[in-house]
Amino acid sequence: NVWFLRSFTILVLSWLTIKPELCFSSVLSSLKALNLQGHITFENNEFAARDFGNQIHSLPLAVVYPKSVTDISDIIFHVRQMGSSSELTVAARGHGHSLQGQAQARGGVIINMESLQQGQEMQVVYNRGKFPYVDVSAGELWINILHETLKYGLAPKSWTDYLHLTVGGTLSNAGISGQAFKHGPQISNVHQLEVVTGKGEVKICSQEQNADLFHGVLGGLGQFGIITRARISLERAPKMVKWIRVLYSDFSTFARDQEHLMSAAKTFDYIEGLVIKNKTDLINNWRASFDPQDPAQASHFVSDGRTLYCLELTKNLYPENADTIGKELDDLLSQLNYIPSTLFMTEVPYIEFLDRVHASELKLRSKGLWDLPHPWLNLLVPKSKIQQFAKGVFDNILKDTNNGPVLVYPIQKSKWDNRTSFVTPDEDIIYLVAFLSHANPSSNGTDSLEHILTQNKRILDFSEAAHLGVKQYLPHYATQEQWRTHFGPKWEVFVQRKLTYDPLAILAPGQRIFQKAV
Ligand code: FAD
Repeated sequence: NVWFLRSFTILVLSWLTIKPELCFSSVLSSLKALNLQGHITFENNEFAARDFGNQIHSLPLAVVYPKSVTDISDIIFHVRQMGSSSELTVAARGHGHSLQGQAQARGGVIINMESLQQGQEMQVVYNRGKFPYVDVSAGELWINILHETLKYGLAPKSWTDYLHLTVGGTLSNAGISGQAFKHGPQISNVHQLEVVTGKGEVKICSQEQNADLFHGVLGGLGQFGIITRARISLERAPKMVKWIRVLYSDFSTFARDQEHLMSAAKTFDYIEGLVIKNKTDLINNWRASFDPQDPAQASHFVSDGRTLYCLELTKNLYPENADTIGKELDDLLSQLNYIPSTLFMTEVPYIEFLDRVHASELKLRSKGLWDLPHPWLNLLVPKSKIQQFAKGVFDNILKDTNNGPVLVYPIQKSKWDNRTSFVTPDEDIIYLVAFLSHANPSSNGTDSLEHILTQNKRILDFSEAAHLGVKQYLPHYATQEQWRTHFGPKWEVFVQRKLTYDPLAILAPGQRIFQKAV
């Protein structure tokens, strides 16, 4: 298409145009002269050169602590006015839990989004129980939203496994967890956003208003604007949940049961799964918090020398199903083909279940094991290829799961809005497979960073060679060609949106998709 080719050529030409560069001291003094309601720092900014991945460390020039949306638009407007005469870029930093420096900006300006949350109240709108929602700052942590909405007996519908992440950070990716099969990812559960575009304009957007911007920023990797506020859909929250784990020794049976539960009319409220390979202590650990239905048999369960698959489920408890829940669970579990005697069950407050990873975080922090490098690999595998993937990866490439959990569970594409920037394989059912490894910096063995990165590469190479049509989730690529392949048919729209909303390529340079013209 001619328009697209012309626009793309202009973008490339503007990259190549050589302009006189503003000297460092004039950039610095122009930033210092900005009249912000919040404040800006030029020292002690090392924290902004770190993230959860702990592999990329790019020091910014400045960190802005905004008090208002105007502060954010002023900064972007200012950087944009400098045009290609400065290398200055801008990155929103949520909770900095990216894995590959995505919220960093070398020599640029970081906007610390959690400061914005301090000036903005959360507003829960009950709507007489019909379509309740909450308006929040995009710098708010999901755990705080949970605490606030529970006061009204409500909660967001779709989650991530870990809640100490910001709204803007997860909406820029997708936000996927065990509720996504039912409600879609977090980006499918937002009614409205306030966004400061890469031109410094403040826009309200939704399905009806500025819809292209709305769809663009959802899953948009921070490329088109900084989300400052979001309206999130809520539902009635249970007080307690039944939390269940069962084991399988065969991947096909495990996956068949997951898919069956995912599409059944009466089913669970959360469905995930885990691969357990040569990691017996994990099952032993469960016994501290889960009651095995058959303790004598369960104690025989070791995973040494073999691969087990754990199906993890929850069912919400409400006053009206208190009497029938036992029978409902029996009916649901009777449809499954797990290894008899491997049923582990417990009942916990909803908040304890949702905030479960934080409990592990506290334990790991106390042992100094939370701040290790995290060479995670997250993949979306089409259902038609998941058996081939499991055979090649779980049976052969993966030797054990001692470096961190490996998650595997299906989600349905029908719960996704294809107009968002998020890309998935083109099939109705997709598996999320997450290798959530941590590396030991002082090791040369199988827990070293090098070993885990090599294993990740083998998984990617295998998937590519076998033409499995796998896409990365929380993607990370070295070249624009790889990004083009990642986006596939959506690449043209992605570039077009970049030209419309951030033509100078100022925003989120840490994603390494576009480079600012200098
Ligand atoms: P940051 O790392 O600060 O930012 C991420 C990206 O978004 C950057 O490019 C940044 O510039 C941009 N950004 C941040 N805020 C905004 C904004 N307001 N507007 C526009 N762009 C913005 N993901 C899942 O889907 N499911 C999970 O279950 C899950 N579990 C996780 C568990 C842990 C322990 C960790 C560390 C991560 C997990 N993630 C999960 C991944 C997580 O969703 C992403 O890494 C997310 O981006 C982190 O949010 P953050 O607030 O730390 O974002």
